[in-house]
Amino acid sequence: MEYDIVIGLETHVELATQTKVFCGCKNQFGGAPNTHCCEVCTGMPGALPTINEKAVEFTVKAGLATHCTIHNEFYFERKNYFYPDLAKAYQISQLVVPICANGYVEIPTANGTKKVRIHEIHLEEDSGKLIHTPMGSLIDYNRAGVPLVETVTEPDMHSAEEAISYLNTLKSIYKYIGISECKMEQGALRCDVNISLKPKGAKQLGNRTEMKNINSFKAIERAICYEIERQKGLLEQGKPVVQETLRWDDALGQNFPMRSKEDAQDYRYFREPDLLPIKITNKQLSAWKESLPKLPAEKKAEYMQAYALPEYDAGLLSQSKTLSTFFDACVQTYNNPKALSNFILNELNKKRNAELVEDEDAPIAITPAHFAKLVELYQTGEIAQAGARQLLDVLYETDQDPTPLVESMGLKQQNNADELESIVQDIIHQNPNAVADYQGGNKRALAFFVGQVMKATKGKANAGLVNQIITKLLG
Ligand code: ADP
Ligand code: MG
Ligand code: ZN
Repeated sequence: MEYDIVIGLETHVELATQTKVFCGCKNQFGGAPNTHCCEVCTGMPGALPTINEKAVEFTVKAGLATHCTIHNEFYFERKNYFYPDLAKAYQISQLVVPICANGYVEIPTANGTKKVRIHEIHLEEDSGKLIHTPMGSLIDYNRAGVPLVETVTEPDMHSAEEAISYLNTLKSIYKYIGISECKMEQGALRCDVNISLKPKGAKQLGNRTEMKNINSFKAIERAICYEIERQKGLLEQGKPVVQETLRWDDALGQNFPMRSKEDAQDYRYFREPDLLPIKITNKQLSAWKESLPKLPAEKKAEYMQAYALPEYDAGLLSQSKTLSTFFDACVQTYNNPKALSNFILNELNKKRNAELVEDEDAPIAITPAHFAKLVELYQTGEIAQAGARQLLDVLYETDQDPTPLVESMGLKQQNNADELESIVQDIIHQNPNAVADYQGGNKRALAFFVGQVMKATKGKANAGLVNQIITKLLG
């Protein structure tokens, strides 16, 4: 039997405000345990919360950037449950009127761009952190009360690839608008994955399971693939998929039941009496809208239209704010977007690979004007590809103007047709077998000759010219 895969995601992102959402404590990752705490975020009786306006602004901006409707009158509610990392025994959250609702984001997929609808985005507070040791469990409330934005999608994704593409898109948007660094390794972006299967083409959705708080894209991808197979296995044996919460164990590559629907908690939501309802004026809303930067989707469209970059390249460049800012600055000094884009995506990114694993927005330590100059030297035939790569190596270590280096490093491209022709002649004489190959119709022998010329000239020969000469001499 063939199945449709249905995935909906709930993504928690910690906002990069200076202070926590309902008190003045520092909002900062790490720090000695329980040093960023006060009566409010540790739930002392009688302590009263006050709303951090910046957290509201950031949530609204998340909604504006994802085409949501903004509810300019909203309030908070208490979600009641007991757990040691939640000192008040309730989390201040939103249920009935989230700040933002009914939006969408456009994600790249193998079959082109597609829309994933956003059901809602609401503001809540993070909990503390339990640290389990052999002596017992410890609790750190530094994270308690950190503003948390939860973005809930409709069940619009149909594969692990689409889910990851959505997450990359959302992360990119939130980083662009400056509301979060989304550092997954610090838990600043965490994802709950809801999955169900249904017979291909069926209208009604199947029973779903949920895996909570998975904190790397790799793990999310693995968890989704595993769960799809598990559900398939059940359905194929005629067994039902039980609606339950599962715990993904990435080390074991397996998930385990956490709790089923029967023991689902009743959170007894009710309106938070200690906070007044909040109203956002139209003036405020417009001001926040105005202050939004260009978003990755706009940048991408711009790159495709104004610079005629291929969609894939435009997507890669625009997804990272660091990369697109760098690219824009390069184009300012050397107006050849296509060449710059190619060199950034093929050469620069190769060098940045190790850093990109840690942080795909790692800063680029080369002045855009220097980088642009390098590409220009290559593009105008001053240096060959091998020379351009050598220059990039140097600039990557020590940022500097590459122009004087062409001379001092002896990188000038060999463009002299006569000299190149005599080198080619020699190689032809030394390799009669390859000549026979070539003349016998094996055009790949051409690459052999080009390679030999490059070897003889230490990569400095003008490759285009060499090609022409060889073709001419070999007929
Ligand atoms: P809850 O808040 O109790 O987890 P919601 O109904 O708000 O439940 O859904 C949470 C997430 O689960 C949403 O992202 C939604 O798109 C997704 N979802 C709901 N039903 C299904 C389903 N049958 N299959 C896959 N995902 C689903
Ligand atoms: Mg849920
Ligand atoms: Zn506090």
